[in-house]
Amino acid sequence: MDGLFTTLSMSQISNDLPPVNCEVRFIADSMLGTLAKKLRMLGLDTEYYSDVDMGELMYRCKAESRILLTKNRKLVDGLGISVWMVTGDGYWEEFLSIARLLSESGAGYKFLCRCTQCNGGLIEISGENVKEEVPPHVLRTCSRFMKCSGCDRVYWKGTHENRMNREAARMMERLVK
Ligand SMILES: [Zn+2]
Repeated sequence: MDGLFTTLSMSQISNDLPPVNCEVRFIADSMLGTLAKKLRMLGLDTEYYSDVDMGELMYRCKAESRILLTKNRKLVDGLGISVWMVTGDGYWEEFLSIARLLSESGAGYKFLCRCTQCNGGLIEISGENVKEEVPPHVLRTCSRFMKCSGCDRVYWKGTHENRMNREAARMMERLVK
């Protein structure tokens, strides 16, 4: 596994950002799995189920006060839940289609405080406690480790910029302007 935290400085990003607002929460429909992972990367609480039907999604939206992200307006018209319509092809266009709503929603962003795989919260953990789970060179060179409270995946702060940093920076640029 690559190190997932790297040279994108937390303070550099967070200076211009509002605090994380847990009130803005989402469920992405089954067509939007990649977008869901990218939103989690920014710390946004985004549930995603590839295998539940629309009725179940509706129920979860209401029960957990979540906003449904979908491209299918017909399915959700008149159902009394909050819906953000997503358009475009691929996660970048999809993200851009809701970027304005996100900016206006007051949702706060925090890079990698949430597991991209399962939406669980990340908890800081000492290197000693993850030494069985990360490669020895990572243990030697990294000082900050996070563990997912949902699936136990371990994230760490690496030393070089990687794809995830660049993606997050690119997305945040669209949100803070
Ligand atoms: Zn997880």
